[in-house]
Amino acid sequence: MRPIYQAELVNGVFGDPAVYIDLKFESRALLFDIGDVARLPTRKLLRLTDVFVSHTHMDHFVGFDHLLRVCLGRDTGVRMYGPQHFIDQVEHKLHAYTWNLVENYASDFTIVVHELDAERMHCAQFRSRNRFDREPLPAIRLSDDVLLNDEQFQVRARPFDHHGLPSYAFAFEEHTHLNVWKNRLDELGLPSGPWLTELKRRVRAGEPDEASVEVTWRTREGSRSERFSLGEIKRRVLEAVPGQRVCYVTDVAGHEDNRRGLISFLHEADVAFIEAVFLEEDREHAERKAHLTATQAGSIAHEACVKTAVPFHFSTRYFPEERALREEFERSYRR
Ligand SMILES: [Zn+2]
Ligand SMILES: [Zn+2]
Repeated sequence: MRPIYQAELVNGVFGDPAVYIDLKFESRALLFDIGDVARLPTRKLLRLTDVFVSHTHMDHFVGFDHLLRVCLGRDTGVRMYGPQHFIDQVEHKLHAYTWNLVENYASDFTIVVHELDAERMHCAQFRSRNRFDREPLPAIRLSDDVLLNDEQFQVRARPFDHHGLPSYAFAFEEHTHLNVWKNRLDELGLPSGPWLTELKRRVRAGEPDEASVEVTWRTREGSRSERFSLGEIKRRVLEAVPGQRVCYVTDVAGHEDNRRGLISFLHEADVAFIEAVFLEEDREHAERKAHLTATQAGSIAHEACVKTAVPFHFSTRYFPEERALREEFERSYRR
């Protein structure tokens, strides 16, 4: 089964961090960090439904204004997720502009902001028709770090230390795909149809194998029906394929605490975007700035058994020479 998404680094290795996750079958997309996003075409910005911000250093958040500018007239709105003070920060950004005409807009562009706290997300919304005044929403309790749980995927977050402040790493995780063996359906003389969607739903919900499944369908001779146990029909017609996992890590100090936490968070990721800001020879500087060196990043990806690791957020002090950083990263990752 092919993955349902495509993940791309928006600004290459030297530009502001942003990873665009295109959900191919939903005309919908997610964004990890919103640094400079001017390079994304409007049609791609308009597809964004959820934007996750690791922390609000400028290079990770400055693209918010551009997104707002492009999306203002649309009706669907966007959800944003970010660290402590995030609701205030979005509010400040919105209130830097004058909104005396927006009440007349046909659409009501709404930003729902989620501010991450230890066990919950504080929430507020800002609507264009309400001149983007803050409207509090009930907080959402977090379970297992899951910020967003969709039918096909979930997004989780974990904070890591970045100079005394948290920088959130994110993981986009596809749920297990349940494929139908069409030939086995034929062998059993069963039709395809909505009952299969219902069957998948029940399997995903974790119903017990003894539960009963009734398949009813029409033939020329009239109505037919057969009964199975959930366990049996699941075994005979469904195939479970584990979903993929894409992780995003940036702006984290290279100390042991972070290293251990990251190895666990990134464990066996299919793809991991991981910052590799400085060369190992500039390690002291990396420590002062609370960033990873290429050697540290590569070694974390190696220890975590990441299948494809993509280094990024290279310091512009090396611009335009990216080879040394890449080579150092690869040496450490593939050792
Ligand atoms: Zn940064
Ligand atoms: Zn930072």
